[in-house]
Amino acid sequence: MTHAPPTNGSAEPRNVIVIGSGPAGYTAAVYAARAQLAPLVFEGSVTAGGALMNTTEVENFPGFRDGIQGPALMDEMKAQAERFGAELIADDVVEVDLTGDVKIVRTATDTYTARSVILATGSGYRKLGLPQEDTLAGRGVSYCATCDGFFFREQHIAVIGGGDSAVEEATFLTRFGSKVSLIHRRDTLRASKIMQERAFADPKLEIIWNADVASINGSESLESITLRDTVTGETRDLAATGLFIAIGHEPRSELLKGQVDLDDNGYVLVKHPSTATNLSGVFAAGDLVDHHYRQAVTAAGTGCAAALDAERYIAMLD
Ligand code: FAD
Repeated sequence: MTHAPPTNGSAEPRNVIVIGSGPAGYTAAVYAARAQLAPLVFEGSVTAGGALMNTTEVENFPGFRDGIQGPALMDEMKAQAERFGAELIADDVVEVDLTGDVKIVRTATDTYTARSVILATGSGYRKLGLPQEDTLAGRGVSYCATCDGFFFREQHIAVIGGGDSAVEEATFLTRFGSKVSLIHRRDTLRASKIMQERAFADPKLEIIWNADVASINGSESLESITLRDTVTGETRDLAATGLFIAIGHEPRSELLKGQVDLDDNGYVLVKHPSTATNLSGVFAAGDLVDHHYRQAVTAAGTGCAAALDAERYIAMLD
């Protein structure tokens, strides 16, 4: 593969390139820009603004007592980064070489270099892949109980999955729902024993075994789901108005394989409490690292930490 020569706008490498434009990437950009590091941010071509662009009300990001729409929150973060001089490019990074002192970052058309790189490409929720799943996301269909459970008070909630997160989410959601149905396609759960015992003992939680979702129904908002028995093939409707899909996440770390150390599930490994990866000058933040909390505010927090780590790294080089 031949590549275009670096097109940084100057022959000198940038101080910081940020890859990703969710709460982690934009926060890293705000901090790096205010530290006079003139960061360049690759926002991605389709999903600039990150996961919160796909949601409606965000009620748990500090500073907005009446809540704020996800896209409006991300617009504010973006404007804040630009205000301090971050340069934003709405393009995808398609290849990186992060192993040398000068880091190389490529888009489909250009090559950029930097002394440090902050990785903040987030993670995606695994989807069921059903029609209506995207249109009803934020209108009854959700992927995050911590984020959205509160909206489903006194409603019938269905949760799909059988691992630890699904069982934990289902148990958590019994605080809000009138009833929670955990739907699992097999006849045993993968979740740990202790989680299972907690679920079995919860009077508000029913487990529907050997079932998967055949369709998600509703026009303006979720009205019901159709379940299909995985043994008999029979279908039936469940009048749930909340559906939490908890079948896993995929960190967007494809680009990094073979360079940055990843855990078995593909999340970037960092030297906690810092955001340093195994490669000097390469830092990582947000849901690309964190499979535990996965919140906008925690992503923003680690984005801040990554910018401070990059700033200190660059100061050491100077
Ligand atoms: P993301 O927000 O996922 O951003 C990653 C960015 O990287 C994206 O902009 C993407 O375009 C970019 N990117 C990826 N690959 C490349 C590449 N190769 N080149 C360039 N750019 C790239 N959290 C809350 O705290 N409260 C809520 O109410 C809430 N509601 C949610 C509702 C929904 C529907 C979803 C999906 C999530 C919700 N979350 C909520 C979780 C929250 O959105 C995430 O925890 C947070 O966005 C993670 O931030 P991040 O910056 O790590 O990654």
